[in-house]
Amino acid sequence: MNAIDIFTIAPFLNDCPQCGHGRVGTNEKTKEFHGTLDVGDTLYTRTCRCGFEVTIDTKDGVTKESVQKKIEEALEAYKTPQEKRWVLDVEDVNTIDELKKMGIVSYVPKMMDDLVFVKTSMTKQELLDIPGVKSCRPESVGSIFV
Ligand SMILES: [Zn+2]
Repeated sequence: MNAIDIFTIAPFLNDCPQCGHGRVGTNEKTKEFHGTLDVGDTLYTRTCRCGFEVTIDTKDGVTKESVQKKIEEALEAYKTPQEKRWVLDVEDVNTIDELKKMGIVSYVPKMMDDLVFVKTSMTKQELLDIPGVKSCRPESVGSIFV
């Protein structure tokens, strides 16, 4: 990607347009996930710990206006409930039962430690409000656990 395109896009996405969080990467010590920034040949992808994500294709060039439009669309998609894959960090097996009662079932048959992989249209806040759910993050951002 050429520098002009990067300079056009970057100011809009240094801070997350949804929550204002300005950091990316994962803290090695605490494993706290902030978000990702991926600049490829033509694709500029920014994700955030809040679940926001946007990909801007610079193949046909970009303008401030086209970047803003793309971000507005991504914000709209963020607000519209849609089924997403989440990784939940849960307290214990009781939490799993609670999730099952709510109709939220893991699509990874075996639990990995205390992690549950679910597909749901619930928002991050709604998931965090479930007793026993310690944290959650969209599966689409960041790497899968190794
Ligand atoms: Zn955010």
